[in-house]
Amino acid sequence: MTIPNTRPFLPYNRPSIGDEEIAEVVATLRSGWLTTGPRVAHFEAAFREYVGAPHAIAVSSCTAGLHLALAAAGIGEGDEVITTPLTFCSTVNVIVHQRARPVLADISPDDYNIDPAQIERKITRRTRAIIPVHYGGQPCRMDAILDIARRHGLLVIEDAAHAHGALYRGRKVGTLGDVTVFSFYATKNMTTGEGGMVTVHNAALAERIRLLSNHGMDYNAQRRYEAEGSWYYEVLAPGYKYNMTDIQAALGLHQLARLEEYTRRRTEIAARYTEAFAGLEQIVTPAVRPEVRHVWHLYAVQVRRNSRRIDRDRVIAALRKQGIGTSVHFIPIHYHPYYREGFGFRRGDYPVCEAVFEGLISLPLYPSMTDAEVERVIEAVRKAVRGS
Ligand SMILES: *Cc1c(COP(=O)(O)O)cnc(C)c1O
Repeated sequence: MTIPNTRPFLPYNRPSIGDEEIAEVVATLRSGWLTTGPRVAHFEAAFREYVGAPHAIAVSSCTAGLHLALAAAGIGEGDEVITTPLTFCSTVNVIVHQRARPVLADISPDDYNIDPAQIERKITRRTRAIIPVHYGGQPCRMDAILDIARRHGLLVIEDAAHAHGALYRGRKVGTLGDVTVFSFYATKNMTTGEGGMVTVHNAALAERIRLLSNHGMDYNAQRRYEAEGSWYYEVLAPGYKYNMTDIQAALGLHQLARLEEYTRRRTEIAARYTEAFAGLEQIVTPAVRPEVRHVWHLYAVQVRRNSRRIDRDRVIAALRKQGIGTSVHFIPIHYHPYYREGFGFRRGDYPVCEAVFEGLISLPLYPSMTDAEVERVIEAVRKAVRGS
């Protein structure tokens, strides 16, 4: 007979929404300006300042921002774009949307980020861009990646969906490559429900991304409803409907103001996990490279299959039984039927990614977790790997 678990389920993720956000959303609704307006402009300025990037464009999602970066750069049919197999499908879908070919370069075993040496091996004369993903909130080896890009004339578009506030050699993610795209999806380090931000180094590329984010309508056309504005606009390209609303920006402004506090709490929880799991030989804890500030979007451990055949799937099931939610980031891109069939990827092509994936589990990690909840996860993991 099993004893019913009376403790409440601890979800894998829970967003932190404060009273300020709620009041700001209500004020936005009352203001009569719901779509892209003053709050979006304010949020873009605040984000630009936080990151220290010259240009920031708010968009409807990180996926939209990645797509815009490729489209604005004119990447299309016949081009190749290199990215990692250990990412969310959207990183690769946007390449496919542009009719370009996704090329995968295996990851490094220490930080699960794309391995610069593998990128170098995948470059052909068709390669146009690299999309590094800062896995879990730890920046990629950007010096090496930027050096490869410079030598081969490639664009670097960073998928920073996990890396708000992360640092690489003292420099903020968002100022390193040509374009950086952040996500404000509900589970990310800060949220607008759905949303994204694109930071850009080059002014002309930023202007092109902004144009394409709003139907390709001349930017000044957005002012046409203001008293001094004109009704006139011109469509300069068949753009997309990827703009952010003021309702989203109302959330984002207050989330950004608390991002550092959130990151501190995430870092504290990660440190506690690492300390607690140090003596557990079945658990490989995440390694932090010395030259980065990791912002701990994920706490992804690897379960080593032990002599008692306790593998990842059994640990996930055992945690669920104890009321602990987990997730897996990510199912390798080349395991999905569409990419396998469309681009000829095969199991065995990316051995480091495949070996890491076998044991991967993301544990709950978010600022609103209490110390007691953190200890509960630790205890549950200990039990799960012992098989008790
Ligand atoms: C969440 C995520 C995305 C997509 O972000 P959206 O804002 O939902 O479009 C892209 N890449 C990675 C690595 C992600 O985790």
